[in-house]
Amino acid sequence: MKISIIGAGYVGLSTALGLAHHGHSCICVDRNEKKVNDINKGIPPFYEEDVADSLKEALDKKLIFATTDYTHAVQNSDITFICVGTPSKVDGSIDLSQITNAAQSIATAMKNKNSYHVVCIKSTVLPGTAEGVFKKWLENESGKKAGIDFGLAMSPEFLREGFAVQDFLSPDRIVIGELDKRSGDALEKLYTDFNAPIMRTSLKTAEMIKYASNAFLATKVTFINELGNLCKKLGIDVYEVARGMGYDKRIAPHFLNAGCGFGGSCFPKDVSALVSLFKKEHENSDVLDAVLKSNTAQKKKIVEILKNKIDPAGKKIAVLGLAFKENTDDVRDSVAIDVIKELKKHSANVYAYDPMANGNMKKIFPDITYADTPTEALKDADACLIMAAWGEFAELADSDFAVMNNKIIIEGRKILDRTQVSGIEGVCW
Ligand code: NAD
Repeated sequence: MKISIIGAGYVGLSTALGLAHHGHSCICVDRNEKKVNDINKGIPPFYEEDVADSLKEALDKKLIFATTDYTHAVQNSDITFICVGTPSKVDGSIDLSQITNAAQSIATAMKNKNSYHVVCIKSTVLPGTAEGVFKKWLENESGKKAGIDFGLAMSPEFLREGFAVQDFLSPDRIVIGELDKRSGDALEKLYTDFNAPIMRTSLKTAEMIKYASNAFLATKVTFINELGNLCKKLGIDVYEVARGMGYDKRIAPHFLNAGCGFGGSCFPKDVSALVSLFKKEHENSDVLDAVLKSNTAQKKKIVEILKNKIDPAGKKIAVLGLAFKENTDDVRDSVAIDVIKELKKHSANVYAYDPMANGNMKKIFPDITYADTPTEALKDADACLIMAAWGEFAELADSDFAVMNNKIIIEGRKILDRTQVSGIEGVCW
């Protein structure tokens, strides 16, 4: 099928590459011209292990093309996916400005298209957005009627950064929210080759499934973090407890890795947006309020542990791992940001290292020192904080830490090899 995708970020480009892998022809539209040119040259706009190869494969087969031209994209496709960002506003509510702009541009492009066209939101938007606001924007601007002249659907994305294309190609489920049966049928046909259960729902149910899933996972992480804090006091290994829990099919082992709190481009903003919706509807959000409060406290723990050992003022502190998690260069809402801010507040000299995210973190903190290797960051350091579970940190041994001035190692994520490194303290182990 012919597909256009608005927003060539982590979700948009991964969607395009996944669909191209299944032989569909994809046009990516992005407002960022550099991104568009890079994609056409085979340069991935972000780091993900499989993306460079998948992009090369799709370009070689002429199944992907990037442009800034909406009209070309809509005219030459049957389905348009919206994959633009939906960040948080300062008050935690959702910022729909990228969606509004995309809707206007698609509607203008649809004006002159005579055949039926499906518009499907893949961005994470609150229940009621597709039918309540997005439909009106499209109808007003295009002069066409949703469900008759064009189709409207909402199919949330559940991929994990670090495994984006892989996850897109092997989803646990595909959720298709539809305004009209015809658009649902078109999407189901697109996903025919995917080996996953397909669930068809209303638009607002699909929107809620995404929020419910992320809020539940954030709650699970927060639960194990708090339990980890207690286990540490009692001399119990929370990872062993989690393993024991995870064998229970009702619980499952995923998202039970205790640590320094959740960050990233999805959990914090999605939980905050859902809480805003609870408040707007005058319903209690006690569980999710507690999740956000607990996570804020958890993010502070690693520097508190450090301060109990040394006064960070004037000390060299190595921060290993800047991305919000391993295998990505994405630093959006990374816990490392909170930690570096806190270290700077205490006048520490921060030496930061990440295998892939130094460049992105430099845009946020241009005034700290970035190292090209863990050893460079560790040299003469008074303490080391591990903030992301990159595989290469598992290779570090006592000999690597021997270059430190003072061997204080605090893990925010459990990754160091205990048989190779001694004297490690964890946030909650
Ligand atoms: P992103 O910021 O990486 O990508 C968004 C892209 O959209 C950018 O390239 C931006 O230039 C482009 N853009 C913005 N407005 C545009 C417009 N009007 N026209 C054309 N291009 C425009 O965001 P992302 O991480 O890919 O997330 C996209 C959506 O998917 C969000 O709603 C997010 O919550 C959701 N989501 C993200 C993930 C994830 O792991 N990143 C997973 C599931 C769902």
